[in-house]
Amino acid sequence: MKKIEHIGIAVKNLEQSNDLFQKLLGVAHYKIEEVKSENVLTSFFLVGNNKIELLEGTSEDSPISKFIEKRGEGVHHVAFDVEDIYAEMERLRKEGFRLLNEEPKKGADNKLVCFIHPKSANGVLVELCQEIKEEA
Ligand code: ZN
Repeated sequence: MKKIEHIGIAVKNLEQSNDLFQKLLGVAHYKIEEVKSENVLTSFFLVGNNKIELLEGTSEDSPISKFIEKRGEGVHHVAFDVEDIYAEMERLRKEGFRLLNEEPKKGADNKLVCFIHPKSANGVLVELCQEIKEEA
């Protein structure tokens, strides 16, 4: 893995949290993006080289809505930047980690993503993400 790509934070109300995090971080979010396949609305902040992703569930069966129902708002996942998500998934599978996705999915911010079950990573939901390269 190359570096932490972003930290994902589950929030109840994205609009209010955008204001809150703007006050906290001293910068405004630079984009809002809906990920329909996950039923989430996301916003991104850039602090130095580090990204923060806020996530609001857009339906009751969204993973974010379920997370907040069980554990409240807060840190939801840590995402790592990887060069080759297929190779990394294969490596982690062999190491015995439980992957939540058989195949990488299209995530927010032009990424292919795959999640690792928190039960196999000390309670941390880990996201792998690989930048989708433009076809030349
Ligand atoms: Zn994420």
